[in-house]
Amino acid sequence: MTSRESYEAYLSRREELARDRMAHYWLNQESRYVHPFQIYGNVWYVGDSWVCVHLIDTGDGLLLIDSGNCGATAMLVNAVWEAGFNPADVKWIVHSHGHVDHIGGANFFKRMYGTKLYLGEPDARMYRERPELSFIQDSRNDCDILFTPDYEIKEGDVLTFGNITMTFYLVPGHTDGCIACFFDADGPEGKKRCGYYGGFGFNTLQKDFLIEIGDPEYRTRTVYLNSLAKVREQKVELFLGNHCVNNDTLGRRERQLADPEGPNPFLDEKLWGSYLDQKRDELLAFMSDPANN
Ligand SMILES: [Zn+2]
Repeated sequence: MTSRESYEAYLSRREELARDRMAHYWLNQESRYVHPFQIYGNVWYVGDSWVCVHLIDTGDGLLLIDSGNCGATAMLVNAVWEAGFNPADVKWIVHSHGHVDHIGGANFFKRMYGTKLYLGEPDARMYRERPELSFIQDSRNDCDILFTPDYEIKEGDVLTFGNITMTFYLVPGHTDGCIACFFDADGPEGKKRCGYYGGFGFNTLQKDFLIEIGDPEYRTRTVYLNSLAKVREQKVELFLGNHCVNNDTLGRRERQLADPEGPNPFLDEKLWGSYLDQKRDELLAFMSDPANN
């Protein structure tokens, strides 16, 4: 093995990286570690304080929704163990969308445990045709690469994992291949309908970004609004976040810890609708601002 770069030169390169305004996404990710916890019944939280990862015990293998940020896979494996499960039992990972901060563990789980990887069909196409839109090149690790999904999720898919049946919809907007899914969790208060919406960020709706990707009329913003409307009326008793900010994951966890015998703060029938309406209103305000047009 040969390397012509001195360690000093490498460190100075790394110092430059640390001055990057995006550096906090990649450096010292362990500061975002969250002790895993049971949300409700067979649904657990194994993500960090920024990007969610959910673990579902299907009764015949574990399913993860998302696989964390690139560079955070050791934290995810630790969280699965700490929750009382064995990462080798993760049979499926369903990815919310194809961005760098949600797919970090995909290749590791597939190679290490034979986990089957799922991704929305339009994002699988994005990986083939415009892989740079995944932002994987921003991961700050030249060893990170995209994965090949074992299954490409399509509109209306109803898929069974152990004793869990999930219904999928495509909700393009944040990416073309964002998925929404719905399934029943089983816990002490009986079956509760879970709802998941795979990507809310407006970063991919910005003027310059849309012009760059070939959408100078900003049609993607209308696509996003239509996706919100499509699943708005779904019955959801337990809204699972894509990032913690969506459902105040950690605030609810604090309330759960403060009053373990009280009502489960994650069971909230109004949250799904109110949050989707909030994003609709925020996007309408964003679209009517001349600065964004
Ligand atoms: Zn994203």
